[in-house]
Amino acid sequence: TPSLVWFRDDLRVGDNPALSAAIQRGCPVVALYVLDEESDEVRPLGGAAKWWLHGSLDSLAAALSDLDVQLVLRRGPAEAVVTGLVEELAAEAVFWNRRYGAERHIDERIKSQLREADIAATSFAGFLLNEPWDIQTGAGTAYSVYSPFWRATLDRISHHPIPEPLPVPERAGTRADAVDGDALADWGLLPTTPDWATEIAERWVPGEEAAHDRLAEFADGELQDYLRSRNHLDIDETSRLSSRLRWGELSPRQVWHAVSPATHRTEAARSFRSELGWRDFAWHSLYVRPDLHVNNWRPDFDRFPWPPLDEEALEAWKRGRTGVPLVDAGMRELWRTGTMHNRVRMVVASFLTKNLLIDWRIGEQWFWDTLVDADAASNPFNWQWVAGSGADAAPYFRVFNPELQRTKFDGNGGYVGRWAPDADSFGYPEPIVDLKESRRRALDAYQSIRG
Ligand code: FAD
Repeated sequence: TPSLVWFRDDLRVGDNPALSAAIQRGCPVVALYVLDEESDEVRPLGGAAKWWLHGSLDSLAAALSDLDVQLVLRRGPAEAVVTGLVEELAAEAVFWNRRYGAERHIDERIKSQLREADIAATSFAGFLLNEPWDIQTGAGTAYSVYSPFWRATLDRISHHPIPEPLPVPERAGTRADAVDGDALADWGLLPTTPDWATEIAERWVPGEEAAHDRLAEFADGELQDYLRSRNHLDIDETSRLSSRLRWGELSPRQVWHAVSPATHRTEAARSFRSELGWRDFAWHSLYVRPDLHVNNWRPDFDRFPWPPLDEEALEAWKRGRTGVPLVDAGMRELWRTGTMHNRVRMVVASFLTKNLLIDWRIGEQWFWDTLVDADAASNPFNWQWVAGSGADAAPYFRVFNPELQRTKFDGNGGYVGRWAPDADSFGYPEPIVDLKESRRRALDAYQSIRG
């Protein structure tokens, strides 16, 4: 009887422990991806994420087919779909790589249902460098501050090195009988009219193969200059691997081993690896607080006096028409390409939550809808970091000044010139807020929750 592999945020055939274990079992293998927009625990995907998912599934289906594995697509609440297919196939073993947000409760329910029916359900680690329960404080709790978290991580790694990535498994040998599923095109993941994704499609090629190409290119090249590019907006040379990691086209283990202080410029490799550490940290936080995108980490922020929503200002922010060049450049880059440089993400988030006094959740939701790397942990985690409501957050009084940031990090104007070339011309809007005065207003609002 066939084995079933349930794919989720691990759209790859290399270093995929669930897939490798299923093939090793020796029986024909069927793969499943479920588009679940119904379960309470699942946050429905945003538009740019759906665009990415389409391309990534297309590439996964081809790679699996080369291994004699059919990728079956089904839509519906995961619990019903998975258990239904197991029954249909009379599968005796089910494999998946773990998830760490609220969806893990779905997985737990499925696991116990399967086990009751004497069906083996096995889950693996494949999405993080370390499992959340493996990095804990002396008191057995999760870390809420990054530096000690990262020290503890490095300490653990010195005793339990990050495993070498698994190779792409050998062909399964025999194919299972064909199974009915949906056609990818029928899921409507791609925009039709208007097609807002043309520039996104020019910029990105989803899929495992393109992900490996980028990783190799980055490790052999731009990594050398990583310390500089992370702070220079016009050098678009950070790794651009976040969407690859978000969809699991690459595992963090593969990335970790590809970028090593032993073989690359030490400081650059160390600093890059510690960014991977922030990704783990965000996921460890979500593991403890699955409501990270809904609730303030710090309860004192529940009292924050957000004024009534200024719809017009919000719209200007979304569309890149605030009259503040760096903010507009970033928001337009986001809309057109599905991504934005990390520093500019911080600037636009600070502008929204502090200068415009708009609740971070509203900005987070816009990013969720427009980023190709929209990530259930990193997105709310970083929004809370900027807003000051997070655990290890930037202090609230640190209000980014977009003009100063522009001078410091886009000195020759390359970034703003590229995304907001109209910023210096006649007809460009006046700033929708006074930066100084709005900063003071934000600090007053913050004072009101401190006492
Ligand atoms: P690199 O600089 O090459 O970093 C390597 C990898 O480390 C990244 O691919 C990413 O996986 C990880 N990483 C780097 N910085 C962070 C960080 N601050 N937090 C968590 N992981 C990090 N990142 C997402 O992946 N998804 C999101 O939805 C997301 N939303 C964000 C929202 C805001 C308001 C801010 C300030 C940051 C957000 N980030 C998010 C973090 C960061 O901006 C991106 O990971 C980074 O810009 C991606 O570019 P890169 O792959 O070239 O990064």
